[in-house]
Amino acid sequence: MDNQNLKVLLPREDIAATVRKLAADITRDYHDKNPILIGILKGAFVFMADLVRCLNFPLELEFVRLASYSGTQSTGQLKMLQTLPCPVEGRHVLVIEDIIDTGLTTAFIMGYVKTKSPASLKLCALLDKPARRCAPVDIDYLGFTVPDRFVVGYGLDYDQKYRNLPDVCVLEAKP
Ligand code: 5GP
Repeated sequence: MDNQNLKVLLPREDIAATVRKLAADITRDYHDKNPILIGILKGAFVFMADLVRCLNFPLELEFVRLASYSGTQSTGQLKMLQTLPCPVEGRHVLVIEDIIDTGLTTAFIMGYVKTKSPASLKLCALLDKPARRCAPVDIDYLGFTVPDRFVVGYGLDYDQKYRNLPDVCVLEAKP
């Protein structure tokens, strides 16, 4: 860690304002739908916690956890470590992601939920990094578009560290 610098990309105040804006859009669309919000662990936990505290209508929360098959990172070879514990058939589902990069994780989870026959299925992501996209993804509610840099903080990690940073920061090697 000593040979790395953190540079704030998205300050906490900007994140909070954007979360409030996303919550207003989601409230407009879901206030009478009793939706199930599905957070993708671990990265989305901070975003999800802030977002749902801005939503003042009936909803349910679930979490799923994914992992790449060992040795095949970024190939889209994903498996569920924690599957959905509740039925979503006939329910309005909103998937909550931290960051969309290649799109492979999101495409996998959206495909998985779709097989459970929800009444509707949409996607909310805090960050979009479109530069490396290889699986097409429609983001219904988006916080920020970010450049092709490795970011940490606000739930996002490097080697399980930095999730607790309140700002989104770029992790850079020291010169
Ligand atoms: P994708 O499948 O879209 O390539 O990647 C999705 C997952 O990769 C994210 O949920 C996140 O866990 C991880 N990821 C992608 N880009 C970044 C990044 O810049 N920083 C961190 N910390 N994780 C990232």
